[in-house]
Amino acid sequence: MATTTGFQERIAAYARQLSEEMGAVDASKGVCWLDSIENQAIEITNAVHAELLKQRSNEYPPQDDESVCPKCGKLGQYRGKRERELLTRRGPATLVEPEYYCPACRRASPYSKNGAR
Ligand SMILES: [Zn+2]
Repeated sequence: MATTTGFQERIAAYARQLSEEMGAVDASKGVCWLDSIENQAIEITNAVHAELLKQRSNEYPPQDDESVCPKCGKLGQYRGKRERELLTRRGPATLVEPEYYCPACRRASPYSKNGAR
């Protein structure tokens, strides 16, 4: 992804704002000063990462009213969106995903017509 100067400037301003809200770097949270700074940066970026996952997953296009159940192959009914907690490469995050209810299996799960999600 190519970033523009304006994008980088907004990141710099946002990073400054977030680090100010986090407060002073706690030197006891690392083996040295630089390690402590990096630990705080990781804490901030992990929180931003989790929020981005939630926001972008919520933008998933509108779903069909029905979808094929991946377990039994019958049609399930779209129930709306649901949130699910998951463990990502950067720690816990909340994902927003579609939910379909299969009357044959009597369970709800996320799936789409082609099974891809
Ligand atoms: Zn089913």
